[in-house]
Amino acid sequence: MTSFTRRSLLAALSVTAFLSQSCRRFTAQALPQSTAGHTLVIGAGAAGLAAARTLQDANGSVMVLEARDRIGGRVHTDYDFASHPVERGAEFLHGENIVTWDWVRRYRLATRPAFDDYRNQFVYANQALLPFRRWSTLPGLDALDLMDGSPIDALMASWIDQGKPDVSLTQFLELHQIEWSPEVRRLVDHFLSGSYAANLDQLGVYGLMELTYEGDGDLYFRLRQGYSHLLEQFAAGLDIRYATTVTRISRSPSGVQIYTDSGETYTAQQVVITLPLALLQANAVEFDPPLPEAKLNAIQGLGAGSITKLMLKFDQPFWSQELESCLTPLDTQLWWRPGWRHQQEESVLTAFTGATGAHKLGALGREGAIRAGVQDLERIFERPLADRLEAALFVDWQADPYARMAYSYVPVNGVGLRSQLAQPVENGLFFAGEATHPTRAATVHGALESGIRAAQEILSLPANRAA
Ligand SMILES: Cc1cc2nc3c(=O)[nH]c(=O)nc-3n(C[C@H](O)[C@H](O)[C@H](O)COP(=O)(O)OP(=O)(O)OC[C@H]3O[C@@H](n4cnc5c(N)ncnc54)[C@H](O)[C@@H]3O)c2cc1C
Repeated sequence: MTSFTRRSLLAALSVTAFLSQSCRRFTAQALPQSTAGHTLVIGAGAAGLAAARTLQDANGSVMVLEARDRIGGRVHTDYDFASHPVERGAEFLHGENIVTWDWVRRYRLATRPAFDDYRNQFVYANQALLPFRRWSTLPGLDALDLMDGSPIDALMASWIDQGKPDVSLTQFLELHQIEWSPEVRRLVDHFLSGSYAANLDQLGVYGLMELTYEGDGDLYFRLRQGYSHLLEQFAAGLDIRYATTVTRISRSPSGVQIYTDSGETYTAQQVVITLPLALLQANAVEFDPPLPEAKLNAIQGLGAGSITKLMLKFDQPFWSQELESCLTPLDTQLWWRPGWRHQQEESVLTAFTGATGAHKLGALGREGAIRAGVQDLERIFERPLADRLEAALFVDWQADPYARMAYSYVPVNGVGLRSQLAQPVENGLFFAGEATHPTRAATVHGALESGIRAAQEILSLPANRAA
């Protein structure tokens, strides 16, 4: 299957066995039965909620401290923009086997398939809107078969097999004298920028291979009632303190003290930290004593990737009914229909823009980004559209004070740093969050698994096992 989403590239690569040993599966049912001392969880995103849920279900005492006035973090469904949910953050379930399905089934949530047919995926190239069956055979555009098990896959696998040094994708292409036209290069770069929130210059070959998503499956889905609805079910019954921004974490042999911006202090035996990588990099929370060198190296050595989402609602659809998504060489990069296969689909298109493109749109601000989006659509669909725009929503995740990023990526020489980031510090500080997952980072299910993993680390501490 080809779709313009991140895992299709990896599913197509023939090196998915790489690092698969580190790939552990978690299930919602496999909850350890023991009692942990009091735990504080920082952040009510997917990772924090999964950690808290796991601990509480094992009779642990747990409280979640969340800076926002809502749960979800980088999962945030908008229910007002259209008659169907519109996702400001995470949108898809990436795979039919991922851990998220345990809860989708438990809460009996309905889903809609996405990107399940080549014929609905388009590319704007050579100034024409081409369906997959045409663009995949055009000279030059075969480079996009990077997604389909091309010779580049084999080259990358062989590079790693031979133990050659880590290099960026740009360097890798140069070393192999792979040259594309400027337009094809932009298309490939835009595909990667959306998938990994980082561009050809930023991504390391080894890091790309580390992110295997082994066993997740190839199918993609949206939740009919929105991603936030799933996490709300998940959070029910947890003790969550909203509008509570942690500013300092101090640890001593007797436990951990947490200080907040409103002057409150919380004490616990251990803490699960799910802060987004960009906040750790910016020292948004002070650690006393400072974090060990290895942890700091992991924090600074990983990349905090960028994505913006621009949702434009028009009076009527001006696209063909069969168009689900369109990859472009334009700055807005990739467009899709968020209401795809929804019975009450409205005329909404989403621009999903990563890395350099996200920074450009972010710098333009809301109005500028909307103008740029409309102009790009006018080029693609060859008609004036400004007067037909009814509403717009621009989400710049880099400007969100409690995220400052979209999802993490692994730059050159960054392999292994995710596992290093996940390591506990002296059985007092435990780390979860998408960036800590070596093989399923940058996803909701990776974040959920990381939270379960951190909770299991706490539950298996000798003191807790004896309880
Ligand atoms: C635009 C976009 C699209 C995406 N698309 C997909 C997709 O289609 N499918 C998919 O699987 N994944 C997708 N992802 C990735 C996915 O959203 C994340 O990997 C996942 O939600 C991260 O969860 P987390 O718990 O690690 O972090 P977060 O959700 O960021 O949770 C961290 C929490 O900590 C809180 N916090 C921050 N600072 C403090 C503080 N000082 N004190 C207390 N609390 C604090 C935050 O408010 C937040 O609630 C997307 C992400 C983005 C941004």
